[in-house]
Amino acid sequence: MSKKIYEALNWASSFLKAKQRDENAGELLMRHVTGMSRATLFAEMREELSPELLIAFEQAVRQHEQGIPVQYIIGTEEFYGRHFKVNPAVLIPRPETEELVYGALERLEKMFGKQVELELADIGTGSGAIAITMALENPKLQVTATDVSADALAVAKQNAADLGADIEFKQGDLLEPLIVTGKKYDAILSNPPYIPVSDQSWMSEVVTEHEPHLALFAGDDGLDLYRRFMDELPLVLKEKALVGFEIGAGQGEAVSTLLQQVFPEARVEVVNDINGKDRMVFAEIG
Ligand code: SAM
Ligand code: GLN
Repeated sequence: MSKKIYEALNWASSFLKAKQRDENAGELLMRHVTGMSRATLFAEMREELSPELLIAFEQAVRQHEQGIPVQYIIGTEEFYGRHFKVNPAVLIPRPETEELVYGALERLEKMFGKQVELELADIGTGSGAIAITMALENPKLQVTATDVSADALAVAKQNAADLGADIEFKQGDLLEPLIVTGKKYDAILSNPPYIPVSDQSWMSEVVTEHEPHLALFAGDDGLDLYRRFMDELPLVLKEKALVGFEIGAGQGEAVSTLLQQVFPEARVEVVNDINGKDRMVFAEIG
């Protein structure tokens, strides 16, 4: 049995569409099994696929049909123009989080433009997407990345090594690993779990059955981690500091109120993502 590339892709898109999966996954999976760039794939559309590659492709498509996210099948996701390894121990980095990184880079430049060295920590680093991107985009930053999950930290460490970022990794609960050192930071960023537990019933099973619940869910209203941050943040921030959180749509007011209560003098700002949803809260303190 043999098929031309375009025939295999046509099969994949109608098969996936019938099962209500992402029908564009076929192209990503084809590029993964053949190792072809997008341009090569289009140039070779009418070539035959070898039987081995056809089997590998069909297996990958069936895995996605079963609900496994494409990124876990191919083992990577792109974030801020770089490829990050992912596995089921880490959340697949989302495009919204690129906006948190962009917003943080901009605000750090505005607040600390002339300063030559800045200490930044990313809490709940997962794949390391935020920490590694910040370090590579702004060489002034000395970056620490934490996670409560040892398996997630292993992925983040691998990504830092692959991408050439010099990051200090610490395992522990929220800000605890920073508090014990007594060190103070110029900036704390975090995309913590923020989904209310009850939302699970209507979320896609591609997410709920495959991505780590430790990365997704945070109590009845999704705000548990932000509330805990408020007790611990004053212990790790310098007098002048930036805090940047990713939040769930609709949480902007609650999270900005929490920050304003702990830092009454801070300039607290809720920022919408490109889809017009409240997605980030920044506090410029001092
Ligand atoms: N920063 C990554 C990103 O933006 O793609 C991952 C974010 S994911 C939404 C949240 C991460 O926080 C997960 O990696 C999870 O293991 C970690 N986490 C959950 N609870 C934590 C806690 N109490 N202390 C530290 N990390 C925690
Ligand atoms: N944005 C992710 C999702 O909706 C959730 C990430 C998080 O809880 N921080 O799947």
